[in-house]
Formats: sequence, structure tokens, C-alpha cells
Amino acid sequence: MRQLTFTRQGTLEWHDVPAPRLTSDKNALVRPLAVARCDLDYYIALGLYRTRGPFALGHEITAVIESVGDDVTNFVPGDRVIVPFQINCGECDNCLRGWTNACSSVPPCAAYGLGTNPDGDFGGGFSDCLLVPFADAMLVHLPDSLSPEAGAGLSDNVADGYRTVATGLKEFPGEPVLIAGGLAQSVGLYAVHAAIALGSRRVVYVDTDTRRLYLAKLAGAETVHLESYKDESRHSDDFLITVDTAGTAEGLCYALASTAPCGYCTGVSGGLTPTTELPLSTVYLRGITYTVSRVHGRALLPETLHHACCGTIDPLALADHILTFDDCIEAMVDPAPKLIFRP
Ligand SMILES: [Zn+2]
Ligand SMILES: [Zn+2]
Repeated sequence: MRQLTFTRQGTLEWHDVPAPRLTSDKNALVRPLAVARCDLDYYIALGLYRTRGPFALGHEITAVIESVGDDVTNFVPGDRVIVPFQINCGECDNCLRGWTNACSSVPPCAAYGLGTNPDGDFGGGFSDCLLVPFADAMLVHLPDSLSPEAGAGLSDNVADGYRTVATGLKEFPGEPVLIAGGLAQSVGLYAVHAAIALGSRRVVYVDTDTRRLYLAKLAGAETVHLESYKDESRHSDDFLITVDTAGTAEGLCYALASTAPCGYCTGVSGGLTPTTELPLSTVYLRGITYTVSRVHGRALLPETLHHACCGTIDPLALADHILTFDDCIEAMVDPAPKLIFRP
């Protein structure tokens, strides 16, 4: 079968590889129907994300079931499904707590399409077939009302944006939210969609990029156009809920400095380097709770799916048009905020 493969910095190639086979009764084999480009894929394709190939690319996936093992009870061939990007068993202590990004049955950070598995590749969405190790635990039915293209990003970038504001807005309904946009392009914009969907009375989106600012405004946000985060140390108002999707130390510092005393700041990258400097004395004196982590994609999927089905979050709002797998090597380095492909 064909598989899009990251081989080395900045190089993607289609490779012919053996198709996966069922190896356990809990497995399913699925055929991808749509794959969305995760914000990280863009940097992998550009060679800016330090990781070693070769590995299969693509991890925001919807698919159709081709075959299932004997123990799979929730799915039959022909069912359309959302395939969460993180591999999780659904049975270990971490999975049962909802910490599906830290399943203890698989290697740390085990996922499709990211080359994070030291013991072998789980495969990627840009392929003809994918093995799902724990089908009943991982997969979620794609409702008839939702297209495969709309469902592809729900377990990753959509969920990532959603969770940055959901916890705060559940505790403080209606609160204004500030989102620092940047390198995690679609995550920041999905955070705007989620904050509005969850009832924030004022959503402020800050960025240096005209196109993302336009999309945020279109979604209903008040926008602030900066020349650079470096030149602006903070917003003039305090916000109880802030989000850093900028992916730089300067963006993170802007979000933290704009957080009100005893407020909550959630980051999706921690400033991108292992030793990003933080204004910890400000964080301490203001009593800010700063959270930074990878998303629990599977655990949040019912919530993001609910909002997509209601139309309060539109996963397609950021994608200009739908591309095909044949376009993907060229398109993967397009700076558009979101791209979605079908085979
Ligand atoms: Zn991703
Ligand atoms: Zn588990």
C-alpha cells in the first residue's frame, strides 16, 4: 500500500509498504477517508521540528472500518469512525482517569504520524490502511450528519483548542478570554471558536499574522494586531482566562502577563524549547495557575464531537477548500492555517 513518509528534515515521499494486518482480537483495520493537517505537520514538513525519520505522516483521521478482530463489539466493517491520534488502551489506570495521552499500555507519546514510538511506527493517516490496536476503546462513530473532512481534526487540534478554554469557562461562565495566537495556528483559532461556543462574553485574539486575525474576527473575536510579541509586553486589560498558542517564549510571556491575579493560563507548547524562560516571579506573586500539556484527545472527543454536531464549533471554518492525497507533499508546506485532504 502507499504511505506518505517523512524521511529526513524537509523531505516527504510516498513509499510502498506492506499493509498492516490484524495481530490481536482487539484490533481493527481501517481505510482513511479524510486527514487534516495538524499544526505540527507543517513544521515537520518544513524541517523545523527536530525529529528523526523515517516515519509515516498524518494523525488527524477519519476512516471506514475494513475488518475487526473477534473481541471488537462496537464496530463492524463499513462503519465510519473518528480515529484518535494518540494510541490508548482504555483499560489502564491512566486511561480510566481520562488521561488518554499517557496510556501505560503503550510507549510514551505513542501516536499515529509523529514518529514518537521507539519500538516501531504505528503508521499514519496518509495511507491506504491503518491498524487500530484497541478498536473499542479508541474509535468513535462518525455521525451521519458530519462529513469525514469535518471529523478529521476533532481528536487533536479542535480538542486542543477546546480544552484551553473549556475548564476555565465551566468554572467562570461568561468570563472574557484572551488567546495569544501564533505557531499552533489552528489550535488558537479553534480556541476562539470554543470560547464563543461556551459563552465567553468577550474573546480577544492577539496575533502578528493578518490571515489568522481575519479568521478570528470572522469567528466573532475582538482582534489585536501586533507587530511582534516582543514589542508588546501585555494586553492593557487583565483576563481571568488566557491561552498561549503562540509557540514562542515571547507569546507565552504575553499571555502570562495578561492573566489577572489568581487567573488561569493554558499553554499548548511551553514556548517550544526545553529551557524556555518563564516570568515565574510574576506568576507566583499574581497567583496564576499555568497549565501546559499535550491534549487528552480521546477523552475529550465526545465533547468536541458534540459541538461539531451542534455547529457551535465548525472544524471546516478554517479550511479554504478540500485537497487530495495527491496534493499533500506540495500542500504540506502551505502556510494556510488548516488543510484537509481526502484520498
Ligand atoms: Zn497533532
Ligand atoms: Zn491505557
